[in-house]
Amino acid sequence: MDVILQFPTEAFQFRAERQEALDIFRSRCRLPVIRQYVYEAQDIGMYTAKCDSCGDLTARLHALIDLDPDLDICGLEAELSSRALDPSSGWVPAHCPACGAPSPKPVSAIFARYLPEVGLDLQIHLIRGGNRITDIDYSVMNIAGEVRTFDKATDSIDFADKLGIPLSLRAMWGCLIARHMYEPDIALYPIQPGYYLGIRPFAETETVLARMAEPFYNWMEQQHAEGLCDVIAYFRDREDEELDIPYAESYHTWLAGYASDIERALVDPFIVADSNAFVAVIDQLASLYGLTAKRDSGDDTLFIHLGVDGLQVRINIGPLLFRTLHEGLTFQGGIKQHFMDEIRAVAASAELLKLLKQSFPDYVFNILNGQYLQILDPSGQELTLIDAIRAGTSYDPRELDEFHALCDELIPGAKPRALTLGRPLAGHLAPVIPRKIA
Ligand SMILES: [Zn+2]
Repeated sequence: MDVILQFPTEAFQFRAERQEALDIFRSRCRLPVIRQYVYEAQDIGMYTAKCDSCGDLTARLHALIDLDPDLDICGLEAELSSRALDPSSGWVPAHCPACGAPSPKPVSAIFARYLPEVGLDLQIHLIRGGNRITDIDYSVMNIAGEVRTFDKATDSIDFADKLGIPLSLRAMWGCLIARHMYEPDIALYPIQPGYYLGIRPFAETETVLARMAEPFYNWMEQQHAEGLCDVIAYFRDREDEELDIPYAESYHTWLAGYASDIERALVDPFIVADSNAFVAVIDQLASLYGLTAKRDSGDDTLFIHLGVDGLQVRINIGPLLFRTLHEGLTFQGGIKQHFMDEIRAVAASAELLKLLKQSFPDYVFNILNGQYLQILDPSGQELTLIDAIRAGTSYDPRELDEFHALCDELIPGAKPRALTLGRPLAGHLAPVIPRKIA
């Protein structure tokens, strides 16, 4: 029989090596990282190559932190394919990492990004055959290490349908507006618990507008009756609300093609959100630092108490919530972008308090009003009263000199026991451990 089709053999070459590389990447590179760092895990890529000279299969990790975070799945795939082929991108190794011989044979490239909203690690496996990418496989892995493959998503909405969260919320907005601009009804997409993207499409007359709005208002009334979704924000109100949003992060930049239509309210994108759901996400992220976040307010303001035990710092998170919504970020994305300093500062202060208590067992350390550190000397006299966050953040207690400087400021003349802070694990404050003296 004549051969009528010539199947490329290159894609089948190295199949065992590719699978081995993928298994190692998942079990040794990603699982420990996402378990320890969770949503702080950075994008990473691994390139596997086989050397003709020494025969070694080598894998090299490359931090892909310069990727545009607003790429949708198609844009990301195109960017990764280009980098997996182009030696000048820095991902493809020019030399065998084992023996140094030039141009080891490419086997595969794997990219991973953690999606904190759904607790899944997105993994994109690019298979190289010769000078092209012959195949791309998509999978997600949960924190237990269970893997599920899925078919390539065709656009942002399809990706969100498949994984439960968009890859880029900003790209999702663009996709939604394009799809709904001239539809007859208001569209409302749930993105994550307590977070909906809404589009009020183009309406020719006031009558059409009123007809469109009616089912939406009914839905909102029902939400309010159940105590849900207390926040509604329109992109076009950005100026009115006097929000501190730099132009580069506003919809004017990432929805540039629709910006003038939005300003004139021809098409009206809006967000419906539940502030309690937002606080729940802050609590979830704060818990990775051994803290809790609890709501403390009436209906019109949005304060939380962030802390652990007696240390409870009261913070207004209203501006953070509105900034998150207007900048086209998920709850996790907005908190990661704009609230980590606060979480880390409170965690650092709580850790310092533990360290001080054990370093000076004869002194008493009280927290007043959730935030002020009062130190009593062994006779019960007040020695110091200081803002606990300032004490926790102005010195690094892991550095011996800095810790001594801090002790001199708080408890002049007293000598601390030789203790230091260990490495914190996800969900815990740093442990206090005896300091090794060289
Ligand atoms: Zn080699």
